[in-house]
Parts: sequence; C-alpha cells; structure tokens
Amino acid sequence: MASDKRTRELRAAARRAMEVAYAPYSEFRVGAAVQTAEGAVYAGCNVENASFSVTMCAERVAIGAAVTAGERTLSRVYVCSTSVEPVPPCGACRQALAEFGPDLEVISEGSDGKLESWTLQQLLPAQFRLEEHVPADEDGADMGPERHS
Ligand SMILES: [Zn+2]
Repeated sequence: MASDKRTRELRAAARRAMEVAYAPYSEFRVGAAVQTAEGAVYAGCNVENASFSVTMCAERVAIGAAVTAGERTLSRVYVCSTSVEPVPPCGACRQALAEFGPDLEVISEGSDGKLESWTLQQLLPAQFRLEEHVPADEDGADMGPERHS
C-alpha cells in the first residue's frame, strides 16, 4: 500500500503538512494530502483557533487547496497525526471528502508508522448527495455539481 511512488509522494506531502500544523491548544497535529487520479497532490494541516469552533481540519484544508487549483475529483486521502493510532477523518470531513470522491481511498498513519485504510464508503456509507433529494427543474437539468476535470 505505501510502497509505490505515488503513495510515497502523497505520504510525504501529508507529513510535511503535519509538521507545520497550527495546533497550540490541543497539540494534536494532523496533516492530510489528497490525490487526484492523475496523481496531483494537495496538502493541508489542521488550523486551530482560540474560538474553538473556527478550527479547520487538515482534510478540509487540503480539499480547499485542491479545489482552488481547479480540481473536482479526488481519489485518495492520506492522513497522519501525532496520535499513535491511525485516525480516520472526522464525520464532517467524511462528508466533505464525499463531495469530491464518493469512493475514495482513505489511508491513515499513526505516529509510530502503523497504517490503516478504508474506503470512504466504509466510513460514510450513507453519503448525503443533494441531487438525490431535489427534483430536476423544468428543463430536466439536475442539481448536481458542475464537474470540471
Ligand atoms: Zn475533520
């Protein structure tokens, strides 16, 4: 799982992000990197705030970097943290990841190198998709997001 070149690049980006995480309150540093099917990698770290609810998770910061670069489809996310046990993305991040990669692969690495992986379908089996709940308009167009890739 963690031996091919693309995975090494993805892991390295996640670990670099973890090193610069801003986590003065919890001291729980997290780095995440998302990867497109073409291999492009975008990283993010957690960004805490004195107003705790403003804190951003690493996964969503990485998604923001990918979307800012014009990406719309993600195939993998690699998460690493200062926790010995590999941490899965939180519930909010699972839904955020589902927007851009309903079937993506989630890899997580603990601080001692222990690896776990899941599919996003395993972590979030009933993903919310707006287009499944909004009727098509009069022109027959659905409410699905525009996909550019
Ligand atoms: Zn999260």
